[in-house]
Amino acid sequence: MRITSQFESGRIRVVDGKGASEATLEILPDRAADFRQWFAFSVAATEGREHTLRIVNAGACTYAGGFERYAVCASYDRERWFRAPTEYDGEARVIRHVPEAKRVTYAYYAPYLERRLRNLLRKAARHPAVKIETIARSVEGRPLQRVTFRSQSDDPLRLWIIAQQHPGESMAGWFAEGVIGRLCDDAEVLGYLTSRAEVHVVPRMNPDGAAGGHHRTNAAGDDLNRAWLEPRESRTPEVLGVRAAMLDRGVDFFLDVHGEEQVPYVFVAGAEGNPHYTDRIEALEERFSSAMLEANRAFQTEEGYPKDAPGDGELRCAANFVGEQFDCLSMTLEMPFSDDANDRDEAVGWSPERSANLGADTLDAIAAVLDELR
Ligand code: ZN
Repeated sequence: MRITSQFESGRIRVVDGKGASEATLEILPDRAADFRQWFAFSVAATEGREHTLRIVNAGACTYAGGFERYAVCASYDRERWFRAPTEYDGEARVIRHVPEAKRVTYAYYAPYLERRLRNLLRKAARHPAVKIETIARSVEGRPLQRVTFRSQSDDPLRLWIIAQQHPGESMAGWFAEGVIGRLCDDAEVLGYLTSRAEVHVVPRMNPDGAAGGHHRTNAAGDDLNRAWLEPRESRTPEVLGVRAAMLDRGVDFFLDVHGEEQVPYVFVAGAEGNPHYTDRIEALEERFSSAMLEANRAFQTEEGYPKDAPGDGELRCAANFVGEQFDCLSMTLEMPFSDDANDRDEAVGWSPERSANLGADTLDAIAAVLDELR
């Protein structure tokens, strides 16, 4: 069997690939850190013949619980993705699939590829309200781009959405595409938001990790979402640059977009553990959640992370840092890797399309709270 991971976001170790229709594989850790979860690889297959791919160390991965009720993402063109039959016995995960093309790519989640991001930004750049700038460089020198939708107000609110600090959480890239795409295409929502606010979107916070097939960290092996208190030029220039841009412009609303391995629901986490959390912010979080329930059918408030005790918030995390620094509505949004357990779809699971729709719909919830943000 010919198996390769020599492509953007590709990562796997082939332990034994000599069989004609079966192979033994291992998930590799991030290059400079011990997180082990992401994989992506392509197989040159015989159409119509079942192959068996045994990933033998799935049970030893960082979020092994995430492989329960999980089916692998598969694609023939790395654009359209579906789910392929996957078994898991607590140690090995076995993909048994009959491909319908000569080449098939399997991945932990549908990668959001550079080519797609470039096309999106090229389209956005033609919009008269848009400005695109490089506001930071990664450890390996890749640009972090900010898409700004300018405001007509002299004293605008500052809305920020960032995505994919954790590179393996590529549903966040699709979410950001939904946000930027709708702002470019829907003059009504853009006009409403920019009459009072400017909107900043950083669609890819961790380009090195995304290119290298990392799950959690950047090229230096650092978790960007633990770097917000003391970002360093040598290890976390991504956070240093974006944080500086926020300190420069100000923040009245912040959403940090992620994927969650083990909680199969869409939810937000607030900043209730922050030292200076107030009743005003708590009320805003509730208003935003109510508006999200109206805006998108996948969003829910029953399941999520346990709440932080007062004062116990981890200020190294983006949403807590920003909420504390700017006294604003500041949240982390999570989407599932596997599926929305309230609304399962065996064919595609929690898909790129659902992620993008959620991003687009989130703008309605932001519009609903806009007048109360400051
Ligand atoms: Zn994350």
